[in-house]
Amino acid sequence: MPLLVMKFGGTSVANTDRIRRAAKRVGREVANGYDVIVIVSAMSGETNKLVGYVEETSQLYDAREYDAVVSSGEQVTAGLMALTLQEMDVPARSWQGWQVPLKTTNAHAAARIVEIPTENIMAKFGEGMKVAVVAGFQGIAPDGRVTTLGRGGSDTTAVAFAAAFEAERCDIYTDVDGVYTTDPRITSKARKLEKVAFEEMLELASLGAKVLQTRSVELAMRYNVRLRVLSSFEEQSDEAGTLICAEEDIVESKAVNGVAASREEAKMTVISVADRPGIAAAIFGPLSEAGVNVDMIVQNISEEGRTDMTFSCPINQVARAEKALNDVKEKGDLNFREIVADTDVAKISVVGIGMRSQSGVAAKMFQTLRDENINIKVIATSEIKISVLVDRKYTELAVQALHDAFELEKA
Ligand code: ASP
Ligand code: MG
Repeated sequence: MPLLVMKFGGTSVANTDRIRRAAKRVGREVANGYDVIVIVSAMSGETNKLVGYVEETSQLYDAREYDAVVSSGEQVTAGLMALTLQEMDVPARSWQGWQVPLKTTNAHAAARIVEIPTENIMAKFGEGMKVAVVAGFQGIAPDGRVTTLGRGGSDTTAVAFAAAFEAERCDIYTDVDGVYTTDPRITSKARKLEKVAFEEMLELASLGAKVLQTRSVELAMRYNVRLRVLSSFEEQSDEAGTLICAEEDIVESKAVNGVAASREEAKMTVISVADRPGIAAAIFGPLSEAGVNVDMIVQNISEEGRTDMTFSCPINQVARAEKALNDVKEKGDLNFREIVADTDVAKISVVGIGMRSQSGVAAKMFQTLRDENINIKVIATSEIKISVLVDRKYTELAVQALHDAFELEKA
């Protein structure tokens, strides 16, 4: 039997009515001849509520008990979805993570998937079950306890199941109808993309397009899982939504396919460090050990043997970065005058696999920002992305101007 994975996010299972609507979609695919693995999130708002209970109870909570509490949201929706399908005469059974068993690492609250054995579920399909409803976001650790995969983790559960069961496709039902050229709240000219390459989606996902958990896209790329993002609120045809697929499946691509904005960046400058071999290692080694996710890096011009080193990191890691650097300074392994943090910046990026073969993208981006009188503070590039840091107050203006300049409203 061909097999499909269908994942329903929190808003798509927010109440029993919505669950019924989602179940009808599943029933249709069963009628089309598929065996279906349904992955469900908790009802929307539920996980936040559960996290709140934990934090109210214990400030430095035991992550094993956090997992015991927050994994319960998905248990509820999995059971309700299976019941709803049974009411529609579709043979269905629910599975919690440990029952599959979805094996993970011991990293409670941020576990990684290690293995998904397929035998148990396949045996049930063999006995006539048509739909396996699996609780997303959760698994079982080597210590025998329940784990969770980090917020948004049901996306990753879905892709991992699609890979393990070699599903024909993995459909992610959510409250948006696809992936857009940019955030539609910033410009009404944002256009839904028909197809996005895995690499592009990774850049867009990590840059703040919050449609999919980044890890799920990495996984889809590694195992070449065809991912489709679509809305569970609209009646739609089979070509609806956005297909996230391998580059080879995209015939021709414009140089730029999307503009992303992240307001959660900070710019850090370490002022006056010695310009000598090993200085970058002395700075970025300790930052990485402290778990700071450094993104852009610029070493400034040096004068009299001293230089400034600038980097960007998530705004909520500024204190951690400062502490790490001050610690190395105290140990005598690094000397600098001061650290200056600019937390009033945004990262604006243009993304597109077409950049690999088309030139002039950077020049056009810089000229566009110049025309709007927006000063660029830091620049970083990769093969398929150009990012700049600008003052945060220019976020909307920069996105709108770049969206126009690269004519993203046109297919
Ligand atoms: N319910 C979990 C969360 O909100 C997992 C998910 O929905 O993907 O983070
Ligand atoms: Mg989500």
